[in-house]
Amino acid sequence: MIIGSLEDCSRRGTTDFSNNSQPRSDFMRAFVLHGPKDMRLETIPDPKPGPDEVKIRIKRVGICGSDMHYYQHFGIGSFIPKEPFALGHEFSGEVVEHGSLVETVKLGDRVTVEPGLFCGKCRYCKAGRYNLCSAMRFYGSASCYPHLHGGFAEYVIAPARNCFHVPDGMSYGEGALIEPLAVGMHAVIRAGSLGGKVGLVTGGGTIGQTVVLSALAMGIDRIYVSDIAPFAREFSVAHGATDAFDPTSPSFADDIKAAAPDGFDAVFEASGSPRALSQAFELAGRGAVVVQIGTQPAEVTLPANVVMSKELTVYGSFRYAHVFPQIITLATQKRMEIAPMITQVFPFEEMQKAMDVSIAKDGVIKVQVEYT
Ligand SMILES: [Zn+2]
Ligand SMILES: [Zn+2]
Repeated sequence: MIIGSLEDCSRRGTTDFSNNSQPRSDFMRAFVLHGPKDMRLETIPDPKPGPDEVKIRIKRVGICGSDMHYYQHFGIGSFIPKEPFALGHEFSGEVVEHGSLVETVKLGDRVTVEPGLFCGKCRYCKAGRYNLCSAMRFYGSASCYPHLHGGFAEYVIAPARNCFHVPDGMSYGEGALIEPLAVGMHAVIRAGSLGGKVGLVTGGGTIGQTVVLSALAMGIDRIYVSDIAPFAREFSVAHGATDAFDPTSPSFADDIKAAAPDGFDAVFEASGSPRALSQAFELAGRGAVVVQIGTQPAEVTLPANVVMSKELTVYGSFRYAHVFPQIITLATQKRMEIAPMITQVFPFEEMQKAMDVSIAKDGVIKVQVEYT
C-alpha cells in the first residue's frame, strides 16, 4: 500500500547495485526481484552503516500484500522498478554494527524496524505526520530511487531512530509483526474514540486482523468481520472478533441487521474491494466513521449521498506514525495476542515457497521467513 511520487533515495548506507567493485567478503545473500515472478537468490553489496545508522542481521521477515503485488506485477500503481531490488519491509533482527553517533541501541540488541525513512524536515514531518513525508524512503519499495533494498536480504542498514527494541519474552517473529499491526492501529486511531462502540472490518486478511486486535485493545465494545474466505472468518472469531459474516451469503443482510440494527459506528475497509468500500458507506450508521485502509482501483463508484445524509466522516489511513512503542507495550502486556497471526514460517532458502504460499492464501494470515 504505497502512494506518492518517485523520490531520490541517494544516501550512504543503502545497498546499491552500482557498487560492484567491493571485495567478495563485502557481499551478502539476498532474494532480488528482477521482473514479474522472477526472484533470484544472489549476492549483493553488504551495506555499511553511516554515523547515525545501525546494521541489522535479519532474523525474521514477513511477506506483505505489497511484496506479493511487486512480485507478481513488478510494480504497484505508478511505482515501476527501474532496477532489480530486494523486497521486504516487515522485519526484526540483531544489531551487529553501528555508527559512531548511535546511542539508543548497542551491539547484540534485538530490534524491529519502522520501515518508513522520513526526512524530518518537510512540513508533514514537522507537523508530526511523518507517514505523509514528501521525501519518504521505504524498504523494499520502488517508490524512491535508487530503490531501498528490503529485508529479503541478510542485512539492512537503518537509522537508529527507526529501531525499536524487541523486549525479552517477545520473539523475533512477533517483532516482525509490529509493522503490519502498526497499520491496523493507525487506522483505529484515525477512527477516534471507540469505547462502547460497534465496528465492522471488511476484509479479514492480515490488515483486517490487525484492525480487530487494535480496536479491541482500544476498547471497542464489539467488532465484526466480513470476508468471503471461510478461513478468514474462522480465524477472526477465534481471535477476538464478535462474529464474522460472508458478504456473498443470502443471510448477509439479516446478519448485519442483527449485529448492528442502527448500522455500525465505525467501518474499516481493509479488503481493497470496490464493492466492500461501497458497502462500508451503506453499513455505516448515522454519524459513523468510515476508514479506508485497503488500496482501491483508481476509480470507484460510491453512494456519495449517504456521506451527506448520514453525516459520515471518511478517513484515509496510510501506513502509520508514532504507534510502534504502543503496540510493543500492548503485545508485551498480552493485551494484544499477536503470535497466532503467524500461520506459516519458512527458512530463508525457501523464500520462493514462502512467496508462493502467501499468494495462494490458503489458510494464510501471515507468512514469515526465518533466517538462521
Ligand atoms: Zn506492508
Ligand atoms: Zn518529511
